[in-house]
Amino acid sequence: MTLASSWRTKHQRLNLTGEVCPHCGVKLFPPRDVCPHCQGPAKTEFHFKGTGQVYSYSTLYNAPAGFAYAAPYVVALVKLDEGPLVTAQLTDIDPEQVSIGMLVEMVTRKTYQDGDDGLIMYNYKFRPILARAYA
Ligand SMILES: [Zn+2]
Repeated sequence: MTLASSWRTKHQRLNLTGEVCPHCGVKLFPPRDVCPHCQGPAKTEFHFKGTGQVYSYSTLYNAPAGFAYAAPYVVALVKLDEGPLVTAQLTDIDPEQVSIGMLVEMVTRKTYQDGDDGLIMYNYKFRPILARAYA
């Protein structure tokens, strides 16, 4: 990701801002301005709570350049409480302990550093939350 695109998508990435379709009520993430459900224009901002559960996941042992410090790590498909599926890295958990259906919440973490004094990227990740938080 370039610095320019990083800046452009910062609001969306750090606040989990998507859209809600005014016609059928479907929630969209990432925002795409056209509802995939009813094809109507959907430009109303919607802020997701950032909580959901692990829908599927895979553990990556060979990280691409720039991510080696984090390997092994888990990339999961998280089903947000509001419905959409988002792909994100899991954090604060041993890869062995990840399971389908695990409750997770969004946190903002450093995801990439380009050298010692290079560009530092921040993005959302998800970490486990205790079941009692829902009780
Ligand atoms: Zn719609």
